[in-house]
Amino acid sequence: MTLEELDKKYVLQTYKRDYTNFVKGEGSTLFADNGDDYIDFASGIAVNSVGHNNPTLVKALQEQVEKIIHISNLQVIEPQAKLAEQISTLANYDGAIFFANSGAEANEGAIKIARKYGETRFDKKRYKVITLEHSFHGRTITTVKATGQESFHTPNFSPYPDGFLYVNGLDAVYESIDDETVAVMIELVQGEGGVQPFAKEAIQKLEKHLKEKDILLIVDEVQTGIYRTGKMLASNMYEISPDIITMAKGLGGGVTIGAVMTKHKDILTAGDHGSTFGGNYLSTRAGLAVLEILSELHKSGKLIETIAYFTIKLKETENRYQNLVKDEVGLGAMRGLRAKDNDTMRVVISKSMEHRLIILPAGKNTVRFLPALTITTEEIDEGFRRFEEALSSI
Ligand SMILES: *Cc1c(COP(=O)(O)O)cnc(C)c1O
Repeated sequence: MTLEELDKKYVLQTYKRDYTNFVKGEGSTLFADNGDDYIDFASGIAVNSVGHNNPTLVKALQEQVEKIIHISNLQVIEPQAKLAEQISTLANYDGAIFFANSGAEANEGAIKIARKYGETRFDKKRYKVITLEHSFHGRTITTVKATGQESFHTPNFSPYPDGFLYVNGLDAVYESIDDETVAVMIELVQGEGGVQPFAKEAIQKLEKHLKEKDILLIVDEVQTGIYRTGKMLASNMYEISPDIITMAKGLGGGVTIGAVMTKHKDILTAGDHGSTFGGNYLSTRAGLAVLEILSELHKSGKLIETIAYFTIKLKETENRYQNLVKDEVGLGAMRGLRAKDNDTMRVVISKSMEHRLIILPAGKNTVRFLPALTITTEEIDEGFRRFEEALSSI
């Protein structure tokens, strides 16, 4: 059987996948089994934040694997405590953290914290969570219900948990709040929804309003977190201090991890929440190595330079190919170009793949770029050379 046949026979077909077989990665280049090199502008959907085969991450993992990979959370785990401290320090946020294994799970934790807050802090129970249209919060039954896209709420998986409502835009949040509202959950840049950032003033105004009403602000930083937008958290960029922040994608550099951080450290107590794998030695050691690499990149000014260079190249390309892609959107190393329509987006992505460049779709018509934060100038140049070749061929 070919690999494609094997996959189609034994793996549940929940993805429309490409069958290029990648066998090795180096920085922002991936190599297929036939030796072809591909420039990686997707980094496993913002996961490979420090690129492939990063020597610091590899060494940290090799050393850890030889000692302990996993013990249960009934014992203290040194890198877990240290990673929690690092996240809190780098984000300049006085919070405590629960570690999970994915973005959806981190968001589940956030919702549980909010629900218990709503149950225990008020005379009348508060439980409703307001989210936004075009948001994305995960694929579990609860986080899919929290996701503000009707197409996700098919009757195939119903009934869904109660207590979620979606509104169209930040302004609509205010009028949707009632005496049962416990939290508002948002992304600062909607990733899956089309790489759409919100205005800083509008977010700060919302934060202030929610604080006055004692309603929790949950910021889903699963995609925007861990230096993706240029700072440790997008919340740092927006100069806000949410009640709850979730993280995942870039934190482990490819090792599965999720985290929910809150300043309300005493809401959850022993027995309220748990995870068999969450925060184990392997994933938290990975997180420590990733933060060591990225915080240094940030401090030295190199990250800002990389983002600036990527931005220039993106704008140049946009200017040259207005017929196909226009309106450059996004923030930091989370960028998009709006294609004319859905068909154009799909063609641009498949043509890019033919020219050995990996990019991603987002929303209905956005071509998305999520390069590793360690990407080099040469890799950026080569990626855009291939991208323009692909666009020229359409
Ligand atoms: C990817 C993503 C999730 C889901 O993360 P998983 O690890 O796939 O569960 C949730 N929220 C946002 C904003 C994301 O980008």
